[in-house]
Amino acid sequence: MSRLSLDQIEMTFGTFQALKGVSLEIASGEFICLLGGSGCGKTTLLRIIAGLATQSSGALMLEGTDLSSIPCHRRSVGMVFQSLALFPHLNVAQNIAYGLEVRGVAKNIRLRKAEDLLDTVGLSGLGDRAVSALSGGQRQRVAIARALAIEPALFLMDEPFSALDAGLREHLQIEVKKLQQKLGVTTIFVTHDQNEAMSIADRIVILNEGRIEQAGTPTEVYARPATRFVAEFMGTNNVFGAEFAGGEVVMDGVTLGKPSEAMAKLTGRHVMAVRPEYLQLSKPTDASTGLVGTVNFVRLLGASIETEVSVGDRSFVHTMISDRAPEFAVGDRAAIDFDLAHAWVIPS
Ligand code: ATP
Repeated sequence: MSRLSLDQIEMTFGTFQALKGVSLEIASGEFICLLGGSGCGKTTLLRIIAGLATQSSGALMLEGTDLSSIPCHRRSVGMVFQSLALFPHLNVAQNIAYGLEVRGVAKNIRLRKAEDLLDTVGLSGLGDRAVSALSGGQRQRVAIARALAIEPALFLMDEPFSALDAGLREHLQIEVKKLQQKLGVTTIFVTHDQNEAMSIADRIVILNEGRIEQAGTPTEVYARPATRFVAEFMGTNNVFGAEFAGGEVVMDGVTLGKPSEAMAKLTGRHVMAVRPEYLQLSKPTDASTGLVGTVNFVRLLGASIETEVSVGDRSFVHTMISDRAPEFAVGDRAAIDFDLAHAWVIPS
């Protein structure tokens, strides 16, 4: 049985429909990332799961129990938000133990638990500190420890690291993932950052305008996007329409090559996605008959070089490992070859 089951969840604010029939099964111990752009309904869905808002229709079940009549404070959820709302008048240990105090747990037990959790989140010995005397990253760890103190059935996080600098964010992403794996707590993490979702989720649920576009492992949504929206949202995919005819793949009258075996039976027009690492660029010659364009952007991304080539009003992105100097500069002409064996045809 899945731990959490969402069945046709709808949410309407006045005449605006923020969630349009969201159905999802979440397994016990899974780490789910709700991913999508601003306003797609991520926070609304998380608030409904937490019991901070009630869906307009649809069912929400936790291990077979209908949650609709169970208020937030009895749902066994631990929450961490972007704005932390730590209690300023309580010290670190008291903040962590707060949920246990509310539940009537004896003082010695809750303080021992707070000590254990401080250890778990790497803040041993800081229990007596005022929360105002902590760094941003330390405060986030306290918020995580506080949410986990009640041993929740569900651990919910809403963009918890978005206010932190990039280095600290990456560090905490890794920590939270390791902690979640160690504790095995079912986790739902809201983010609008594809890279964050890719690096921590067991499964990514991509929302768009209140609907699930795709739910899948990071590899599935990255390499096999179910929709054009997912292909474009999950990074710099090259997405374009192409004709399959006479054993060739043709875009805007230019032959790109022969379809791979997997695409051999296709005919007519299809939308294709080719990752930037599956493009090859070369210097065009007078005999070049394929796609030729002009380089309009080159940038170094640490381990790779990204080159953008425009052809008419389209642009294509190419990446390669940056173990040598860039071969192309802005303004150069470049011939583009697609590795069609790695192209993905978006299901229509
Ligand atoms: P962001 O990443 O910007 O936080 P989100 O995906 O979390 O976005 P939600 O906060 O879930 O988006 O909001 C979804 C939509 O519902 C938005 O268009 C928002 O304006 C609307 N909405 C949310 N709460 C309310 C409310 N209480 N009243 C009216 N509209 C609301």
